[in-house]
Amino acid sequence: MSPAASNRVFLTEERNRSGLYRPSVKCVVDAEDRLSVDRTLRRLGHSLIETGKGRVRIDNGRLYRSVTGGGHLMGTTRMGATPSGSVVDRDCRVHGYTNLFVAGSSVFPSGGYANPTLTIVALALRLADAIASEP
Ligand SMILES: Cc1cc2nc3c(=O)[nH]c(=O)nc-3n(C[C@H](O)[C@H](O)[C@H](O)COP(=O)(O)OP(=O)(O)OC[C@H]3O[C@@H](n4cnc5c(N)ncnc54)[C@H](O)[C@@H]3O)c2cc1C
Repeated sequence: MSPAASNRVFLTEERNRSGLYRPSVKCVVDAEDRLSVDRTLRRLGHSLIETGKGRVRIDNGRLYRSVTGGGHLMGTTRMGATPSGSVVDRDCRVHGYTNLFVAGSSVFPSGGYANPTLTIVALALRLADAIASEP
């Protein structure tokens, strides 16, 4: 999915039993996201034909009408160069703080197809090394 600003977690006016505002999520798989899958499958198909390894059949019904998913939550504290467009910098450090870091898939700027855990672990190990090497 592309990192659309309209896809976000926000607080509602409603409060829970503890008096905290309930969060809500807006997440829309838009036309560009579906076209991205379409394009990727077409490239894979061309590559398989060129190498004589097989064919890809694109199921438009599944691609454009019944996208599934939901277990790979990411992007709520995304990584980026500036505080105006992101929460953490390239070292997973929260912009404007010296000792506040985020380790998890929330720092992913966008969501790819592959399962995220190996990337999460790699980022967490890199972060641990960076913190350990600080004076
Ligand atoms: C059913 C399912 C199957 C999956 N299968 C795979 C798979 O096969 N391969 C793969 O790579 N990925 C898989 N995933 C995705 C993977 O589990 C997640 O991407 C990963 O766990 C995210 O890690 P995280 O550390 O970012 O967040 P989490 O693991 O969600 O950790 C966030 C932690 O923060 C805590 N927390 C939240 N709010 C607060 C708060 N206010 N104060 C204190 N603590 C708080 C939570 O209790 C939680 O422990 C699957 C996910 C699901 C749901």
